[in-house]
Amino acid sequence: MTHDRTEPGHGASAGSVLAELRALQAGDLPTHGGRTLAYVYDSGLAEADALGREALSMFASSNGLDPTAFPSLQRMENDLVAEAGALLDAPSGFVGAVTSGGTESILLAVLAAREGAPHVDRPSMVLPSSAHAAFLKAAKYLGVRAVVVDVDPDTLRADPGAMAAALGDTTVLVVASAPSYAHGVVDPVAEVAAVAAARGVRCHVDACIGGWVLPHLDDVAPWTFAVEGVTSLSVDLHKYAYTPKGVSLLLHRDPALRRGHLFASADWPGYTMLNSTMQSTKSGGPLAAAWAVTRHIGRDGYARLAREARDATLELAAAASATDGLRVVIAPDSTLLALATDGSCDVFTIADEMLARGWFVQPQMAFGHLPPTLHLTLSAATAPSVPDFVTALREAVEAARAAGPVGVDPSLGGMLAALDPAGLDDAAFAGLLAAAGLAGDGGALELPTRMAPVNALLDACPPRLREALLLGVLDRLSRPTGTPAGPSPSEP
Ligand SMILES: *Cc1c(COP(=O)(O)O)cnc(C)c1O
Repeated sequence: MTHDRTEPGHGASAGSVLAELRALQAGDLPTHGGRTLAYVYDSGLAEADALGREALSMFASSNGLDPTAFPSLQRMENDLVAEAGALLDAPSGFVGAVTSGGTESILLAVLAAREGAPHVDRPSMVLPSSAHAAFLKAAKYLGVRAVVVDVDPDTLRADPGAMAAALGDTTVLVVASAPSYAHGVVDPVAEVAAVAAARGVRCHVDACIGGWVLPHLDDVAPWTFAVEGVTSLSVDLHKYAYTPKGVSLLLHRDPALRRGHLFASADWPGYTMLNSTMQSTKSGGPLAAAWAVTRHIGRDGYARLAREARDATLELAAAASATDGLRVVIAPDSTLLALATDGSCDVFTIADEMLARGWFVQPQMAFGHLPPTLHLTLSAATAPSVPDFVTALREAVEAARAAGPVGVDPSLGGMLAALDPAGLDDAAFAGLLAAAGLAGDGGALELPTRMAPVNALLDACPPRLREALLLGVLDRLSRPTGTPAGPSPSEP
């Protein structure tokens, strides 16, 4: 068999497909430039980005399924784990694994804890209410009951005393965040870990978002493996290590703690399956990209990027505090910020006004006694444009104050109030979409450019109903439309 390397595919030309991809991408939020303050992380270093993309494509087809077939991948994984261990005060003998993201790292930490306590019949874990929803996903996937403990209402940090009281015979894991995603504060990890250790229970520190930043900042309460009692820790490289998406690390204090998430099966006729993570076939691309970018930026480079993002966060917090109508929810420990209004306007309208000015900030719904907020994740690349951001923010707040707080349409509100989330079937959802003016062609969902009325409506819904509504949205969004992208019909 020979390959004709110059033979084109039988579908659209490569050039036109690329043009289509560019056109599709034009509708996305920008990943670079520092104007998207959630979802993406930009170092602002063009060479590091180019290197990451090159490594990503070099190893895109390599398969982490078998470390003996692609030893380069095992080597890079061990290097990344070693680098993280050094940064996070891991003791000698620690181990780790590269996963596809923070959620997978958390799922595996929960799985390992569950498997490590086979004598516990109906395992549970104790979480502060600020813990990432990935733990609730783990609860659902893995059958480990989540015991959620309110954070301290003043500090928004985990309350070790209340958590201690929540521990019981079925507890297999206790969780702390460094920092929490929603409010950007670091839990009292030493106290939480002590609570866990006193009962011989594992303690996982979710440093998915802070793990690559906090080591370079001053005055952070201890949160790494330096804390006795911390048994595992997660850190996402696709966040503040500024690597392409698809890489997180899960570290364990010792190999026995990891054992529960390793998997082998010889009970089938194919190769003996042997996996350290949830994926089996696993692209080498994200791993190689992370290896390349972290080597290129280096420890000193990350220290500088962390300080830039931190300074930008403090500058922005000060400017927001000094803006009529706005307040900072809590002094940030890291590079994340939550903003609330004084009631003269609403965060959803501010988010729309910011988007109209080319800035994406992420609305967070009301939770417990907390009002809705705006979430800002600051990348190093945002630092030089903080003054521009502040100008846009002040204009946005002024516009939102002039408009007044967005209201919930009374008839829609009435419809929703009467809804049982469990009874929200496809037909009921279609009716709601039509009533809300969100039904497009063929009943497809058509999102408006201004999301504030929709967000205000969702915010007014109790959590179970909001989940049901958004699941309906996801279901509608993820249905094929138009002509499938396949070979064009040939002549008969
Ligand atoms: C981002 C994040 C996660 C989840 O990570 P994904 O990579 O989105 O799966 C978990 N915990 C915290 C604190 C996070 O910020």
